[in-house]
Amino acid sequence: MAWDFETEPEFQKELDWIEQFVREEVEPLEHVLGSQYDVHNPRNQKLVRPLQAEVRKRKLWACHLGPELGGPGYGQLKLALMNEILGRARFASVVFGTQAPDTGNAEILAHYGTPEQKKQFLEPLLNNEIVSCFSMTEPHAGADPKMFKCRAELKGDFWVINGEKWFSSNARFSSFLIVMVVTDPEAPPHQKMSMFLVPTDTPGVKIVRNVGLGTEHEETGEHAYIRYEDVRVPRENLLGQRGQGFEVAQTRLGGGRIHHAMRTVGQVRKAFDMMCERVLSRETQGESLANKQMVQEQIADSWIEMEQFRLLVLRTAWRIDKYKDYRKVLKDIAAIKALMPKVYHDVVYRALRLHGALGLSNEMPFSAQMVESFMTSLADGPTEVHKVTVARRVLREYKGTDGLFPSGHLVSRREQAIAKYGKLLELEVGNL
Ligand SMILES: Cc1cc2nc3c(=O)[nH]c(=O)nc-3n(C[C@H](O)[C@H](O)[C@H](O)COP(=O)(O)OP(=O)(O)OC[C@H]3O[C@@H](n4cnc5c(N)ncnc54)[C@H](O)[C@@H]3O)c2cc1C
Repeated sequence: MAWDFETEPEFQKELDWIEQFVREEVEPLEHVLGSQYDVHNPRNQKLVRPLQAEVRKRKLWACHLGPELGGPGYGQLKLALMNEILGRARFASVVFGTQAPDTGNAEILAHYGTPEQKKQFLEPLLNNEIVSCFSMTEPHAGADPKMFKCRAELKGDFWVINGEKWFSSNARFSSFLIVMVVTDPEAPPHQKMSMFLVPTDTPGVKIVRNVGLGTEHEETGEHAYIRYEDVRVPRENLLGQRGQGFEVAQTRLGGGRIHHAMRTVGQVRKAFDMMCERVLSRETQGESLANKQMVQEQIADSWIEMEQFRLLVLRTAWRIDKYKDYRKVLKDIAAIKALMPKVYHDVVYRALRLHGALGLSNEMPFSAQMVESFMTSLADGPTEVHKVTVARRVLREYKGTDGLFPSGHLVSRREQAIAKYGKLLELEVGNL
């Protein structure tokens, strides 16, 4: 009976170490440093590099990778248990070498890259010497990549790229961009596009502005609006085959979505912990907030939703390890992608409100978490699109009936039951 919700004692020891290390050493970083992607900033280097060295010494560096790429090859279930701890702290993924979008970008480089591309782009990326950017969405179209217009034309030995991309996260810190571009406009929709490796300092790559989220200040925005103007890259900078852009993007997004969900479990838990602490500390009308039944309902709903979400994430991770094929878990990944923003939003909303005015202020993290919950409903595709995936795949497991009445029709079922057992019970239809 291989159905088990326990963690092996040996791995639990690692998780305990990670928990303490993240709380004590990593969580403080977000209060004294800027972006975790600003890897060349001397302040980041001073504080982050020694912590990364400790993680490497403990053999916990880049746990999403298999041994062929220098990771321990733990698989997705162990990674989920780790990521829900790392998800609490903004710098934790960088300290442990598992930060998006570099993980997904490394995955496609490992899968589709040539030996030269791996040497130039993948090796420094895996060592966090540099960071990368995935540049796909365009200002006029996001959820439907078939509408992208950014174009590359082969001129001699160079591809020349022209067009606009939008919400290219971390481009301002990146050393290279992976750009999805139309190379074959006349081909069938899913074979029109190709993927390119573009060093960010290539002439013609122009960051129009760095867009921020919510009320974030313009200067700290991290989602670049990029104009590609006659950007020339050598023909060998094509990643994968010409026309294979969609396939390459899909390879990257499966893992990316579940890793986000794993980390989101950590953020939801963080808001939930704060909510519980607050209601036990605050009094109103002569008693603790925790004694009010409407407050208790909020605690109960939050715990139930958080645990349901966590279990779905863990089961999906387990299924990825079992099948070793993302295509077999598309429904599961789409389901957690669709559930994530709702659970994140609802738990944070309750945590914010139970802290009163303080909860809404910029002295608590809830407003930022609330914006992030909306982010999880958009980045890597909107919730609606993922729900459609779930529904379509679920419906593949069913078929319609040819009969006048549905198969659950009680009168018909009774007739069938009597036909089967009636003789034994001496019953006839209409004689019940
Ligand atoms: C914080 C953040 C970071 C991001 N980082 C990156 C990045 O690094 N690289 C990158 O390329 N992109 C990035 N994105 C872009 C992201 O992938 C897109 O926002 C997403 O694909 C949706 O595209 P859109 O914003 O153009 O929305 P649209 O395509 O305009 O859709 C708008 C809304 O329409 C509805 N909708 C869309 N399609 C359907 C449908 N089929 N059925 C029903 N309703 C639908 C949904 O409510 C959707 O939210 C990021 C986005 C955010 C918010």
